[in-house]
Amino acid sequence: MTIMSQYHPPLRDIEFLLKHVFPISEHAQRCGSEIDADTALMIAGEAGKLAAGKLDAINRIGDQTGSTLDGVDVTTPPGFKEAYREFAEGGWNGLKFPEEFGGQALPAAVSTVVDEMWHAANLSFALNPMLTNGAIEALLTAGSDALKQTYLPKLVSGEWTGTMNLTEPQAGSDLAAVATKAVRQADGSYRITGQKIFITHGEHDFTDNIIHLVLARTPDAPKGVKGISLFVVPKMLVGSDGALQGRNDLRCASLEHKLGIHASPTAVMSFGENGGATGYLVGEENRGLEYMFIMMNEARFAVGLQGLAVSERAYQHALWYAGERVQGRAVGEDGSLGKTILRHPDVRRLLLSTKSRIEAMRALAVYVAMQKDLAHAPLDEETRRLAKDRAELLVPVLKGWLTETAQITTYDALQVFGGMGFIEETGAAQYYRDARILTIYEGTTAIQANDLIGRKTARDNGKTAGLLLDAMDATVSQLEASGSGAGQELAAHLRRGCAALREAVQWVVGASADNPRAAYAGSVPYLELWGIVAGGWMQALRLQAAQRAGLQAEQLAAAEASAKFFATHVLAQAPGLASTVTQGASGTLEFPDAMWA
Ligand SMILES: Cc1cc2nc3c(=O)[nH]c(=O)nc-3n(C[C@H](O)[C@H](O)[C@H](O)COP(=O)(O)OP(=O)(O)OC[C@H]3O[C@@H](n4cnc5c(N)ncnc54)[C@H](O)[C@@H]3O)c2cc1C
Repeated sequence: MTIMSQYHPPLRDIEFLLKHVFPISEHAQRCGSEIDADTALMIAGEAGKLAAGKLDAINRIGDQTGSTLDGVDVTTPPGFKEAYREFAEGGWNGLKFPEEFGGQALPAAVSTVVDEMWHAANLSFALNPMLTNGAIEALLTAGSDALKQTYLPKLVSGEWTGTMNLTEPQAGSDLAAVATKAVRQADGSYRITGQKIFITHGEHDFTDNIIHLVLARTPDAPKGVKGISLFVVPKMLVGSDGALQGRNDLRCASLEHKLGIHASPTAVMSFGENGGATGYLVGEENRGLEYMFIMMNEARFAVGLQGLAVSERAYQHALWYAGERVQGRAVGEDGSLGKTILRHPDVRRLLLSTKSRIEAMRALAVYVAMQKDLAHAPLDEETRRLAKDRAELLVPVLKGWLTETAQITTYDALQVFGGMGFIEETGAAQYYRDARILTIYEGTTAIQANDLIGRKTARDNGKTAGLLLDAMDATVSQLEASGSGAGQELAAHLRRGCAALREAVQWVVGASADNPRAAYAGSVPYLELWGIVAGGWMQALRLQAAQRAGLQAEQLAAAEASAKFFATHVLAQAPGLASTVTQGASGTLEFPDAMWA
């Protein structure tokens, strides 16, 4: 038995966000872009066609077939290569990149809603352009003119793709342990030798060339993270005329067998088995991690988006099934048989839990994208700095909270299917399996949470956090004055959530100085707290926009019910999480090591 549903691009919600919650025309104007809401929505509509058509159609076969390695070549599942060609020819890879290199210079707020659709339709496919985007960002920021001219136009057009080579067997979360070697040659290039593991799309058949961004150490580099440099190491060497010259000394040694994202080739990469792969330094020696953070921040934002995307896809699938499956009588209803499981209160809970979280996540993604845009906009320095600080604080929240939430949403979507969810043919299990990697790669949730505590909260003594909380409190005051029932209910929970988060921020700042182990023992609950309070803020902004927008009665009722659900089921957890952050460390840390056995 096969139960599949078609992906429907969430264009109605995107329109609501870009017209009413965060008006894109005004935002674009502030950023010096000429795009208006209608054009942005037209672009989203066209992307939605490709996502819902070709990409969604090959998602299942990608899961079943997987990518395979034959000697040195990797073959992606049927239809993937052709879909990539269509994707690149459509110019989809270059939406947000500078026109100078062939991009369309659109605000990140627009590319964010588009990128969500690629990930929702086919996570394995979308990982490829996601990593290319990270490589482009790193070269734009730190690459020499020569590197930019040689690689950027082809990466932006999608003619070549990019990868991110950080991980080694002994260097996962801790990149200080990177051991790949880079030795400078007389001509200024470097010889790279070493092994990288878990490299997403490290080898594939989409394009003729793959541009690897590789972390390595020069022989006299300082120990630890201060001695890491970043190199461009192309699969095919490129001549001064731009023509491909022949293979570089690197190869895919094997592909991993994984729980999910089967179509995405995860490669063990071997560099320099025959004397050394030719690499080119990006920026300056020993500043590689700094540059890599640029790629990682882009990729962390994008992985957060994957959490939203797979939630949306799983939700649509479950909602479709709930509207088909007939089982039992719904309690408290007229007792007639033949009604679907959508009438059961608990099935409604499962679906609304996902729907209300998706709304909050999508709004948060667009909000953070807008802060990223504003950080580079032609505005005064103070406005740019504020936006940059906000974006930097919220990127680990976005990565951590959206991907952890995807574990809940794909779990709940599978639950809606009952036993059929556990059976592979229905497809519900694929979303559940695919989602599992999201809390691991690009830095596990704990690594995001450590970043949130150390760099984003304690380093400025909670100043940026406090300013964001002031903005949230201002929204609460507006909601309290609005008079609507749903607004009051959400405001009450958000008020408590903000107070709980403020208390946790203050405690984290103090504990980071006095007792760092205690602060870090609560880092993941602290991140979770940030996520649900920021999500509640987003629901509040959505509700205000819905009340302003003159929606039809049923649409407004849906927005209100969803906001109330989020307040009472999700935001209500905030005070408990704050207690875990401020009081939970002793249980974690006092357990005697001798008793683990
Ligand atoms: C499918 C897949 C694709 C990937 N793609 C890429 C890629 O394209 N490029 C690339 O370079 N890498 C890639 N990776 C590697 C990925 O980024 C790492 O697996 C990840 O960063 C975790 O490292 P690790 O596996 O070594 O786990 P470890 O670092 O060994 O972590 C194990 C556990 O310890 C915890 N831990 C470790 N350090 C800390 C700490 N300081 N504080 C609290 N907890 C901690 C972790 O949270 C985790 O729970 C990929 C991995 C997979 C599985």
